[in-house]
Amino acid sequence: MDFSGDPLVDVIDHPLIRHKLALLRDRATDPAHFRILMRDVGRLLAADVARHLPQISASVETPLERLDIRVLDERRIVLVAILRAGIGLLDGLLDLLPEARVGHIGMLRDPESLHAREYYLNLPDELEHRDVVLIDPMLATGHTATAALTRIREHRPRSLCFVSLLAAPEGIAELRAEHPKVRILTTSIDRQLDAKGYIRPGLGDAGDRLFGTG
Ligand code: URA
Repeated sequence: MDFSGDPLVDVIDHPLIRHKLALLRDRATDPAHFRILMRDVGRLLAADVARHLPQISASVETPLERLDIRVLDERRIVLVAILRAGIGLLDGLLDLLPEARVGHIGMLRDPESLHAREYYLNLPDELEHRDVVLIDPMLATGHTATAALTRIREHRPRSLCFVSLLAAPEGIAELRAEHPKVRILTTSIDRQLDAKGYIRPGLGDAGDRLFGTG
């Protein structure tokens, strides 16, 4: 599967992101370092996420004069983390978008069917006036992200995009089929999914590696 011609699939390729990603993939990286690296990548991704968020006109008084400029509509940004692993990237994005609101959606993946079941949802009000960035570091089968996007779209956000660290081709294809207009940002499209739904080569279970479980 080749997504290079898809204008709504952005693979953010930067030497610093690649460097951090290599450390995240390394099985020897412990949870404390893994959390720091994930947050770093969240910060590095914020600039590319922001390219696709609405801007508004504003003015600032510099010490010398008044300047009319375009700025992000930051208070209308909603960062929604898919629990648990989304929290890792969320922190980095929030560092650079501190005025953003935060939502959480808890999705459990059935280990047999690999299908997702929602167990928790907490979103800011009035999403129809807000721009939602859904965050999950691992776009694997695509079932979880697809179900979360479907849920969020019930609230008719002004705009919606999906951010991940790694994506499997199978996950992108599923998400594309269900949500063809949602932009996907990721730092790598890995080779494939394995029989247990893990991304290969991947980095293992992102939640376990973040929180030292498993
Ligand atoms: N979730 C993970 O944390 N890792 C994978 O490889 C796939 C899904």
